[in-house]
Amino acid sequence: VNRMNDKYHREEERLRTYDAWPHDWLSKEMLAMTGMFYTNEGDKVKCYFCEVEVGRWERDDQPVPEHLRWSPNCPLLRRRTTNNVPINSEALDRVLPPISYDICGANDAIEVR
Ligand SMILES: [Zn+2]
Repeated sequence: VNRMNDKYHREEERLRTYDAWPHDWLSKEMLAMTGMFYTNEGDKVKCYFCEVEVGRWERDDQPVPEHLRWSPNCPLLRRRTTNNVPINSEALDRVLPPISYDICGANDAIEVR
């Protein structure tokens, strides 16, 4: 296994890995935005931030819920501080799940007004 490419903290660089992406119905822009780069094996993508690999995508699958299902503590999806360089941080903010309160010992509880 090769050492992970250090530049994949940049969304722009992740998006470039999808040249041979096989599924036109699964948004490579969304995958790249949410941490995934393409491994060039089948339809397997890998998250730079939590190193989870997800493949065998089905038509109903969505990038973020699948990512969370296999890696519920991904720092990017959990809105932890990462070295991610998003193309559009507002777009990323819209697709990330809300900060959740189900992490033991976390300080990032939802503020109730
Ligand atoms: Zn991840």
